Amino acid sequence: MKQADLIIRNGTILTMDASLSIYPEHDLIISDGRICAIEPHGKHEWQAPQSLDAQHCILMPGMINTHSHLPMSWFRGLADDLPLDIWLNQYIWPLEARLLSKSFIYDATLFGAGEMLKSGITMTNDMYFEMSAIADACIKAGLRAMISEAVIEAKMGADYRPAELVLKYKERYQDQPLVDFSLAPHSIYTCSAEMLKRCAQAATTHDLLIHIHLSETRAEVDNCLKEHGKRPVHYLNELGLLDARCIFAHGVHVDSGEMDVLNRKPVSISICTDSNLKLASGLAPIKEYLDHGINLSLGTDSVASNNDLDLLAELSTTAKLHKALNNDPAFLPALEALKLVTINAAKALGVDDKRGSLEVGKDADFLIIDTQDLNSMPLYEPASQLVYATNSRQIRDVFVAGKQVVKNQRLVNLDEAELMHSASRYAEMILKELSK
Ligand SMILES: [Zn+2]
Repeated sequence: MKQADLIIRNGTILTMDASLSIYPEHDLIISDGRICAIEPHGKHEWQAPQSLDAQHCILMPGMINTHSHLPMSWFRGLADDLPLDIWLNQYIWPLEARLLSKSFIYDATLFGAGEMLKSGITMTNDMYFEMSAIADACIKAGLRAMISEAVIEAKMGADYRPAELVLKYKERYQDQPLVDFSLAPHSIYTCSAEMLKRCAQAATTHDLLIHIHLSETRAEVDNCLKEHGKRPVHYLNELGLLDARCIFAHGVHVDSGEMDVLNRKPVSISICTDSNLKLASGLAPIKEYLDHGINLSLGTDSVASNNDLDLLAELSTTAKLHKALNNDPAFLPALEALKLVTINAAKALGVDDKRGSLEVGKDADFLIIDTQDLNSMPLYEPASQLVYATNSRQIRDVFVAGKQVVKNQRLVNLDEAELMHSASRYAEMILKELSK
């Protein structure tokens, strides 16, 4: 017999590999945090000290969220139903200026990481402040994260050297496989051309990923045209930013001339459907992006603008919405849609050699989804069941690097009662601050 660490028995394995293979009644075999074999159930020579039954369950890769602001947990539901500029200028930014501290960010991240894991997200691409507090909280929760410090020039000053901090943290956390760091000029409206150029140069010199908001609102594009005489993608291209590996959050108002530039560059768009719907920012032209061969993934944005971190629900909304928009029920079929939260998202973050699909040699980041519920029966097509019918509460178990982080829908590394107590405590503090 061959020896492994863990065997997940008799599930339907949705691999998301290049052929989008699905294996019914198979075992997922794990050793040293990686997948070492995928074999027909009961017809192999592997044994392991630990095993878990997955009969009537779907196994899929852990979902990868490509745009988030984890530490905004305490702002959920605080100021809804407002335009983006009022929401930011009158609520979020003043509160952040008065309240943010390392402990605020650590506690809020811990909560957000717990929520993500329970929703089946095993890796997120996060942008906020205080990268070490975010990293420490993600490590404690067991969530993978690509973490960046939002560069807002008015806050940091014109002399700010963003790459120094990223390189420092890359070194400090080099023994922590769950976290990595990237560069995040917040947007074209919070960074000068000089700062954006500095970020572009640093990213190409040190091969860092750039994470930036792009063309979220029509006003952002109009202001860019007014100030720089060109649309945002052309402006960023001129500054050299598109020569770096980039992930653009939102990309709602991007035209085909801009897409002709994007499709020649190492960039991806993180579609944030729920946030764009709720803030009435518009809808990203998914079909046009795909026609241009541009890599797309999905992001939740923060719970202040979403208001949850339920990526599976977001995928369902996105798939159905864009069928309707394109007047085509065959557009973005379920298996293709699932790429947006798995392999395409891994590509966007440059980790598709390690994650984003269930294949031998890749990290054992996966979900076990229980299909024994009325809304999931009968089961003909696992992919369409996941996208159109599954509730994220059916995500029974979650593993990151072969370690269980959600067991029977409960967090393994965090105390959920403590997290909820923490949320109430911070809400009290925020309401007190608002009443001043
Ligand atoms: Zn954002």
